Amino acid sequence: MTQKLLPAFLYFEKQIQYSGLIMKTIILAFVLNFSGLFGGEYWQQLVTYKMDVKLDTVAHTIGGHSTIIYLNNSPDTLQHFYLNLYANAFQEGTVKHREYLAGLGRASRGARFKKGMDPYFSKYDISNFKIEEKDFTLTDTFRIDDTILSADLSKGLAPGASMTINLDWTQNVGEFSERAGRVGKQYNFAQWYPRVVVYDENGWFNEPFHAEGEFYGEFGTYNVTMDVPRGYVIGSTGTVTKGDPGWEEVRVDTSQKFSKWLKEFKSNRPKYDSDERRVVSFYAEDVHDFAWVTTPNFLYESGQWNGVDVHALFNQKNGKKWTKKAVARTERAIEWLSTKFGMYPYPQVTNTDRLAGGGMEYPMLVMDGSESEGLILHEVGHIWFYGIIGNNEVREAWLDEGFTSFQTRWYMMDRYGNHGFDMDGGRLKDWQKKYWKFGNSLGNTQWGMINFMSSGQDEPISRSTYMFKGTRAAGANAYTKPSLMLDELKYILGEEVFIKGMQEYYRRWNLKHTNEKRFIDAMEDVSGEDLDWFFRPWLHDTRLLDYGINNWKKNQKADDTWDITLNIERHGNRDMPQLIETTLADGSKHRIWWKNHKFRVKDTFTYNVPSKPDYVTLDPEAQTMDIDYRNNFEGINSPLYVFTDGHTMPNETMFYRPGMRYSPRNRYVVQYHPTLHYLDKDGYMPGFSFKRSYSMLEYVESDLNVGLETKETFYKLAGWTKRPHKSIDQINYHIFDFRGVRGSGLTFTKEIDRNNSVNGLKRMNFGFYENQVKDTSRTHLYDKGRMIVASTKIHSSFFKIKNEISFDFTPFKASDWSFSRIVLTNSFDERFGLFGARFRQIYGQIWSNQNEVPLQERFNVEGAGSGDLYHKSYLRDNTSFYGNKEFFGRYHMPGDANLRAFGNQGLSGVEQVFAITFEGFLTKSIAGINFELAGFIDQGTLTGSKFVVGDKGFNNSTLMDYGIGLRISTSIFGQPLYLRIDKPFNATIDGKSIEKMNDWVLSFQKSI
Ligand SMILES: [Zn+2]
Repeated sequence: MTQKLLPAFLYFEKQIQYSGLIMKTIILAFVLNFSGLFGGEYWQQLVTYKMDVKLDTVAHTIGGHSTIIYLNNSPDTLQHFYLNLYANAFQEGTVKHREYLAGLGRASRGARFKKGMDPYFSKYDISNFKIEEKDFTLTDTFRIDDTILSADLSKGLAPGASMTINLDWTQNVGEFSERAGRVGKQYNFAQWYPRVVVYDENGWFNEPFHAEGEFYGEFGTYNVTMDVPRGYVIGSTGTVTKGDPGWEEVRVDTSQKFSKWLKEFKSNRPKYDSDERRVVSFYAEDVHDFAWVTTPNFLYESGQWNGVDVHALFNQKNGKKWTKKAVARTERAIEWLSTKFGMYPYPQVTNTDRLAGGGMEYPMLVMDGSESEGLILHEVGHIWFYGIIGNNEVREAWLDEGFTSFQTRWYMMDRYGNHGFDMDGGRLKDWQKKYWKFGNSLGNTQWGMINFMSSGQDEPISRSTYMFKGTRAAGANAYTKPSLMLDELKYILGEEVFIKGMQEYYRRWNLKHTNEKRFIDAMEDVSGEDLDWFFRPWLHDTRLLDYGINNWKKNQKADDTWDITLNIERHGNRDMPQLIETTLADGSKHRIWWKNHKFRVKDTFTYNVPSKPDYVTLDPEAQTMDIDYRNNFEGINSPLYVFTDGHTMPNETMFYRPGMRYSPRNRYVVQYHPTLHYLDKDGYMPGFSFKRSYSMLEYVESDLNVGLETKETFYKLAGWTKRPHKSIDQINYHIFDFRGVRGSGLTFTKEIDRNNSVNGLKRMNFGFYENQVKDTSRTHLYDKGRMIVASTKIHSSFFKIKNEISFDFTPFKASDWSFSRIVLTNSFDERFGLFGARFRQIYGQIWSNQNEVPLQERFNVEGAGSGDLYHKSYLRDNTSFYGNKEFFGRYHMPGDANLRAFGNQGLSGVEQVFAITFEGFLTKSIAGINFELAGFIDQGTLTGSKFVVGDKGFNNSTLMDYGIGLRISTSIFGQPLYLRIDKPFNATIDGKSIEKMNDWVLSFQKSI
């Protein structure tokens, strides 16, 4: 029922209260009928195109004559008429171009246009324009503004009347950009003809063609005759009514080996004179757009499903990949989609190779950048959601992109299992297939969107595409977020009701225009539920979902069944019923829905299970966007986490698998592997390392080692956790005891602008660290004593330069030293094609009392300070790289003054530093290995101690070194590997070369 009917209905109801239910029903029926007469009834305009066009492959033009018959089915008299001239957008100064220059739209597309529109230039020339109603001329003049042609109708077009528009037109066809244009000899004709602007219940949709956003068309009939060079083969919307599109001439003989067949085919292919032509007519009805592709390089294969012809047209050079697969995948797509949502209504579907990445959908025809099954599903799926059920893609992109993203993931999971891709599709090596675990495709997608939605950059789905602040928001809101909304809807309604709802939506709106309300009404009518609580927050707001169990009570009853009482809390701000799964002591599962979810922050829910319960889970299959499953469990007993009292998420434990990215939604992943550290004093130190992670929300790593000589134990525990709804976004912590040196630390991070790439503050950290050094026999990096340092850091970014300012001090006289420190760093790292440049600048100053500052808190001259070095097991002492003392001396870990040639000198750090590191580099990937050749200059002005014992130290001394470096990065068995060898040529102090500079340095870390 529509809202505007309600007052009328209530009025009638008041009058007839006495007459009972029957009378009410009659009145209701009357009101519903009545509303039909006064504008509530659906209507759509009808257009009939007749186009005769000729392709000129020398001048790169397409054009000819269009006759359009326009039937006004609306209740309004139309005073104006509009045509979309989409191709006009590819000129300097258009709305599209200006939006790209302003940084809107997809960056990859914008980057091309910023270099100039010339290669993509396309434009219409229009002449002999005339609109007539029978023999009366409504107008013969028009205006063109950007991509919209407007005409004023002299006496208007009445409801039910029709008019005929005639025009001659020519379009310059530019190089392929966005969705259409030339790729070599191939012409992808999309949005290629003057097309009638939609007039619907909201009036004319005469928007220009924006940088971001797609299309909207009137349903109708197309009669198109194409005239192309004789050697060109055509794939098109519609069916052939006259002429020969050339398919049989290029049909692949699939009984032969493709490469052998192609060789023979090429040698037999006839050559045609340049004046020989191919003329073909195509006819299509009940479509709202018409596209076609032509090239002399097409090959053809065909198939059929349920009487629907399946055509595949692909380039010779892609033939090996496309042969057989394209037809089979297209057949499967229309079969699956027809079964799930509603029967394919057209006589044919054509899958074409568009010779450009990505894909695009048109009625009966898709243009695909590859033969990928997911891509074919997505684009063919659009024939349902966009094509058959035609939405305004600019205003409500989610109604086509969200639906197709949803059905593609569903299909791929249906076909290939939960990971949602073809294991044998060639993406993975055998060892990866064998040893890696793969997350659920739905879960992986959910993580991606949780990351985005909790970034502060989220916007509501129901927004015109060009209104989003950035491309990430436009993409997320058109594609991924609504696809996950549909998954949630399927979960709460159940698959059967959901499919019924989709089929009802299809039945009502096939070959019509849809919108949000029409979809929601179909779902509400079929499910019998009011779903406003579900759709409003998803579509018109930005909210996060998170439910948890606070605690539970369980009581055994006289009949041996158990009552369970759960205290459920909504931590997020979106409502959702919860499927509660109780795992019973005998291993069986009991499920029940909690549906008291509307506008409720806390609730107590009691239910009965047949035998003793073990533990309880909310949303056991992780079907919702609940951003934090750590609070969805009660009763889990994990020996690893005795403090949590069963209120924790289970672990999935396995031996460490390098390179594997596996992030289940409702499990911690624990991986372990053996380690072997070394120190002269302790000898070899075997041990284990454990890593526990929960995707983007938690990570902890712990090391435990025992020295074989001294039998001493050493441990380290470090990690971070994120609090999605709290004002502090991340907490980092560490604690270690390596005998003689022990320490701990805690840092709170407030994200200010995590995902935004523009200038401004990024994040702030507050925290402290604490060390106690009693014995320095295992490290030369520390002075003995106790130290507590409070630290605040502010990170910002301006014009690609990252800035960090930090203030540190020793509070409450709790340390053996007292000092304050300020450090400012700026850094930059950018690539320009093969070349790149990076720099880092640091200014640091320490103020202290007479006790000076210990070694571990001064600015290191050659690189990172003691604290950073000490975190790496191989840099704790000059013996810790398995006894090789040379290694520590030559090792360079970036940081502090970063004068890399000054390692191995016994320099003990300074109190004041101003230093710059600059590198220019050339980079190239060869056979999976990335090589970088760099030239570097490190320069600094230092004041402070020089050597540990007796020296005047540096006093405004200028240190400098320069040289070249070679860096190699690759990954071996999924484990990333980085190696840097730098060769300094000279190192000077106040212009004088030092005697024994570090003549080469080595590192596993980057130089800045
Ligand atoms: Zn799409």
